[in-house]
Parts: sequence; C-alpha cells; structure tokens
Amino acid sequence: MENPSSSLLSGLNPEQLAAVTWPPAPALVLAGAGSGKTRVLTTRIAWLLQSGQASIHSVLAVTFTNKAAKEMQLRLGAMLPIPVRAMWLGTFHGLCHRFLRLHYRDAGLPAAFQILDSGDQLSLIKRLLKSLNIPDESIAPRSLQGFINAQKEAGLRAGSLDAPDPHTQRLIECYAAYDALCNQEGVVDFAELMLRSYELLQANAALRSHYQNRFKHILVDEFQDTNKLQYAWLKLLAGEHAAVFAVGDDDQSIYRFRGAHVGNMAALMREFAIDEPIKLEQNYRSDGHILTAANALIAHNNGRLGKNLRTDADAGEKIRLLQAISDNEEAQFVVDEARALQREGWDLAQMAVLYRSNAQSRILEQALFRAGIPYKIYGGLRFYERQEIKHALAYLRLAVNPHDDNALLRVINFPTRGIGTRTVENLQATASAEGVSLWQAACSTGGKQAKVAAFVRLIEALQSHIGSSNLAETMLAVVHDSGLMAHYQNQKGEHQERIDNLNELINAAVAFKPLESNFEVLPENAATDPAWPILAFLSNAALESGEHQALAGEAALQLMTIHAAKGLEFNAVFLTGLEEGLFPSEYSLAERDGLEEERRLMYVAITRARKRLYISMAQQRLLHGQTHFGVVSRFVDEIPAAVLHHLSPASGSLVAQQHSSQRSNPFHSRSPAAQTPEKAQNYAGFTLGQNVRHAKFGTGVIIDAVNKGDSAKLTVNFGKNGIKVLDTAAAKLSPL
Ligand code: ATP
Ligand code: MG
Repeated sequence: MENPSSSLLSGLNPEQLAAVTWPPAPALVLAGAGSGKTRVLTTRIAWLLQSGQASIHSVLAVTFTNKAAKEMQLRLGAMLPIPVRAMWLGTFHGLCHRFLRLHYRDAGLPAAFQILDSGDQLSLIKRLLKSLNIPDESIAPRSLQGFINAQKEAGLRAGSLDAPDPHTQRLIECYAAYDALCNQEGVVDFAELMLRSYELLQANAALRSHYQNRFKHILVDEFQDTNKLQYAWLKLLAGEHAAVFAVGDDDQSIYRFRGAHVGNMAALMREFAIDEPIKLEQNYRSDGHILTAANALIAHNNGRLGKNLRTDADAGEKIRLLQAISDNEEAQFVVDEARALQREGWDLAQMAVLYRSNAQSRILEQALFRAGIPYKIYGGLRFYERQEIKHALAYLRLAVNPHDDNALLRVINFPTRGIGTRTVENLQATASAEGVSLWQAACSTGGKQAKVAAFVRLIEALQSHIGSSNLAETMLAVVHDSGLMAHYQNQKGEHQERIDNLNELINAAVAFKPLESNFEVLPENAATDPAWPILAFLSNAALESGEHQALAGEAALQLMTIHAAKGLEFNAVFLTGLEEGLFPSEYSLAERDGLEEERRLMYVAITRARKRLYISMAQQRLLHGQTHFGVVSRFVDEIPAAVLHHLSPASGSLVAQQHSSQRSNPFHSRSPAAQTPEKAQNYAGFTLGQNVRHAKFGTGVIIDAVNKGDSAKLTVNFGKNGIKVLDTAAAKLSPL
C-alpha cells in the first residue's frame, strides 16, 4: 500500500523533510528568503494532521499578515480535505481577537466591544487630552499614541511604569486615563488585543491550562519579527508541553522599530532547550541574478547569524534599473511595463509594485487608474479608513453599542443636523460629571433639546433593525436613514466616489458571511445573538486590510509597502523609489542600527521577485507637498554592476506618455542622447536633475547650475556625502 504521506512529502529536499517531520518537540528553522520556511511550516501542519499526530483543534499557527494567513489556508486546503477555517490559524491580532470574543467576560469587556484602528485611537486620544485640558504643545496626540502603543507592546500598564522625569510622569497619567476611557466606552485598540489576551491567560489559571492542554503544536512563521509580548504570549500558551515550531530569518527582521526583538530567537532556543537551529540553504524562489543581488546587499550588514543561500536556478534576467526624471514618469513606466508583460502572457496578479512609504502609492494609483489597469492595495489607504465609510460604520457601531463615544462624536452632527459644538460640549460636561457615556447624557438631556432627541430616536431606530433585519438590510438603513447617502448626493462635484463607496459598503454587507470569514469568531451565543453578524462585520473591517480596489476575483496588479510584502512572492516585482532619504529613509539614518534595518527591508524587497525585478528611482519627486531631488539610493550601489541592466526613458515624461501606446518597447538601453531632454538647458554638458558620479563623493544629482564661460558651477546633492558646489572645469564629474 502506498504511504499516505508520500505525496505530501515528495519534492522536499532532505533538510526540509527533516524539518517537516521533526518529532513533536520544539524546533527553530533559521533560513534565508525563499528557502521554503513557510512551505515547510504548512506541510508540517498537513503532515501532523494526516499522520494522526494532531487534530485541527490541537494546532495553533501564527502568520504575520492576513494575506499570508489566507494563503496558508488555501495551501492547506489543497493538501488535505479538512475544514481549515475551524483551525486557529491567523495573525497575532486575529487570534487574540478571537480569544477575547470567546472570553470577553473574563477579560472584563462588553460583549459588543469594538476595535479601534489607529485613526480611531488618535481621535480618542485627542478627545482625552482636550478633556484633561492638556494643549497639543505640551503633549502632542501622536506622541502620546506612540507612547501608549510602545508600552502596551512591551506588556506594560501605566501602573507598572516608573517616571524618570515630570514629562514622562504626565504621559503615564494620560496612559492610565486613556485605558480608563477605553474601558468605559468598551473599545479596544490593536495593541490592547494582544496585551489583554496575555493578561487574561496569565491571570486565569483555568483558561490557561485549558489552552495549554489543547494546543499541542504551536507553529510560528516570521518568528524574527515577534516582539517581547508576543513571545511571552506564545510561551504562556505553550506551557510545558507544546511543540513550538518556529521559522524565521534574522536578515528579514524589519519591525525592530516597533519593538520586534530578534533576541527572541536566542530566548526560544534557550528556554525551549533547542540545541541547534535547522538550516535550509537552497533558494527555490528567485533566479540567480536576483539572488546574487540580495546576497551581495545583505553582506553589508554586521552581526548576522550567518546563513548560506544557493540556487539551482539559472542566472535568469538581469535586474532592470530605471532612473526616471520624475515620479510621474516612474509611475508611467510601471504602467507601460505591466501592460507589456501582460501582452507577453504574464499574469497581472503575479506582479507587484512595492514602495517604502505609503505616500508613494497615490501617484502609482493615479497612473494605473487612468490606464485602466486593475490593482489592489494591501495596507495603507484602506477602504475602511475612508471618511464616508467610517461615518457609516460609526452609525452601525452605535446601533450595537451606543456607549461608543468616539462613534457618537463622529456622527452626532454629521450629516449636519444643527447640533452645535456648544451642545456637544455640554453633553461632554454632563457625561464626565456623572461618569456616564455621551449616549446616556444625550438620552437624559434629549427631552430639553429637540435636535439631540431626534438623533437619539434615529439611533434607536437603527437599533431596532438588529434582530428584525439581516446585516445587509441594517446596513442599507444605516446608509440611507442616517442621511449620509442624501448628504453626498446633494453635494455638487466630487462626491460620486463617496457615493460609490457607500454602495460598495452595502455590497460588502450583502456578501459578508460571518461564519465563513477567515477570522470568524464563534462564542457560544453566536448562533442566537442577533447582533453577531454586525459585530463580526465591524471586527472584520477593523482587522482586515482593504482589498477593494479591484473587483473580487479580478486579476489585479498588487500594490503594497515592502513591510506588507513580507513572506510573499511574485513573478515580477517593481521596486520603486530607490532614492537616498526615501529608501533608506531619512528618519532611519538618525536611528541606531536604522540603516541596517533599512537594508534588511531592501533584502526582503529584492527576494520577493522570482523571475523579473525592476528597480526604479525618480530624480524629482513630490512628497508631502514638497519637491525632492533624489540621489540614487546607496542600496543600488551595493548591488553588483554585473547583475544590473540600465534602462532609460526614451525621452522626457510628457513625450513618453504621448507615445507610449505606439511604441512596442517604450524603453531602450541607455544612450547619451536619452539623458538630455530636448529643451533642457545645457551647463557645460550637464543638465538640472541629471545624475552624475564623482570620484570622491559618489553618485549625486544636479540641483542647481550656473554657466560661467566654458565651464559651469554645479550644485550637486551627494546624499549621505552632502551637497557640494563644483566647477566642471576642475571637478571630475561624469554623467551616469
Ligand atoms: P520568505 O523568507 O520570503 O518567507 P520562505 O523561506 O518562507 O521565504 P517559501 O515561501 O516557503 O520560502 O518558498 C519559496 C518558494 O519556493 C515557494 O514558491 C515554494 O513553493 C518553493 N519551494 C520551497 N521548497 C521547494 C521544493 N523543495 N521544491 C520546489 N519548490 C519549493
Ligand atoms: Mg515565508
């Protein structure tokens, strides 16, 4: 008889096989990008289940992003006919959310607790500071937000903090007041999901032993990016007996700025008595040149744990490098190339555009939208963060939990219904004097204030839908009865998009299946509590990244930050914005080890590509309302020239756009003529915005120039080497 696991295990190399079939004891797989860590982890789950060593209830698996969790579910589902959705497989936040929904009472939360995303959190903090009469100059809301989150991520409550100085003392007091307010309003921020779960497990011995007995296998992907609290949570869940199986890569640790602690790897080995990490050394993802680039780049970092990575794949194509004149031209380049690849038969969904900072996505989006190329954005500008959607969700939140002050403040006078700031301030004063929610204050003063009373009646009417209507009907009522739809319909001009989004929200409610959503929560009363679908919908909206730009199921170009791309792979990758100050980010350079973290990020970015990698930079970029003149990132210099192929736009961006549809190949190999747009002023052979190389200062960009007879005086920004004024007669400058 054929061994049932043979097909599952076939195709694994010997090291992978050893890892997949590791006995039920703790293990750490330490290996480079694309070496099959995630595949090993997924296959191990399937193998444990298939060989009867584990049931779907005894496995807990943690991934880093929702997208990664979904992919793992898909892969598992394809390997075995099991109800993967019932498994505890998800992100740290997703799993903690599930845990808190199940045990909300023990956690001291209301059944209908709501999740605050970071925008909600900030507005709650602003409100708090105002009520405490603390001006922004004294404590900036964002800095308090950062402080609170950092403390929570380190597992620290206000009560356990020491204040080294009066300012910190005030921050700690605000942190305590913030927690009290969240509790009063029944809301939970992201970091709180994790901390509250941890505290509950720690405090409640019965629950702890229940879960410790249940989860015999705990598997963690991207272990290098766990923070101390996540590690402590895992340790509590594991107890004495669970087989913790962690996979990770120290070179891909990119969340140290958020408290990720690469020392967790050493702690895991020490505390779980792991003698040696398992190493995987063969890369199955990228072609040779791409891997050469990644290896050469990361070699510039110090203090690495040391891993080898080789491939049997061919050298493949060289990395295509573009220096665009402007960000618009860079975006147009992406559009033209994506189209050209599509014509050659490449799948759009297998192409990704990556960027360092979310702010870069707008221009890319615009260009893709105009060109009619479907795209999806992961993270960043999320559907659920748009103003009109947040307004609608606030009404929905009030319907399930009217004590949610944030939600109430958002919509009490939106659309405008004549409830002025004074009235709201009076409500706030009453609420804080009596220690009640704004809703309670509104109900009690409503008798005297007709407009407030009308608002209370509106919310009560929405509440009455719960139980008598389904989620979609409730959403329809929310969008229409609240007056939101009419508000946008009556506005002139640019509101079509908002109307479309509100309709899309109704569609999302129609399509939403709470019991089939990936992070569904099933407390004992789920089947009977009529508010459940709404709670599940709201939680999903807060936890999930918006993926609504392309229609569901439509093949779409994938846009995301490099952070969001971790663990993923694509046939073609466009890595954009390789400019000093942007990547590596200006901010990172001031931080200790900041540059090394940026380089790891670059390593992650390069290693996402399987077949084709484009790296681009713009000599001129509009960011946050300012024009930046970019110098090529030092990371490009760290890639061996032998694996790079320089591309150059055929001409200036305008001309390139006009002709792009006629040219079969809009970009050709670099030629001197291509460097000089027709009308650009000539300064002794150089032009403004041109990239140049200097023997001593490296690569730079010309940001100012003055002609002086035969020579010219050029002001050149050499990035990390500063801005220099050079005379072309003396300086050894060559065009790039
Ligand atoms: P990262 O560090 O980026 O998360 P990883 O180590 O998790 O990478 P995987 O995503 O698991 O790597 O694998 C990379 C690719 O190589 C995947 O497409 C995977 O299916 C493939 N792969 C892994 N092992 C093998 C193998 N033995 N034979 C063929 N393909 C493999
Ligand atoms: Mg992986």
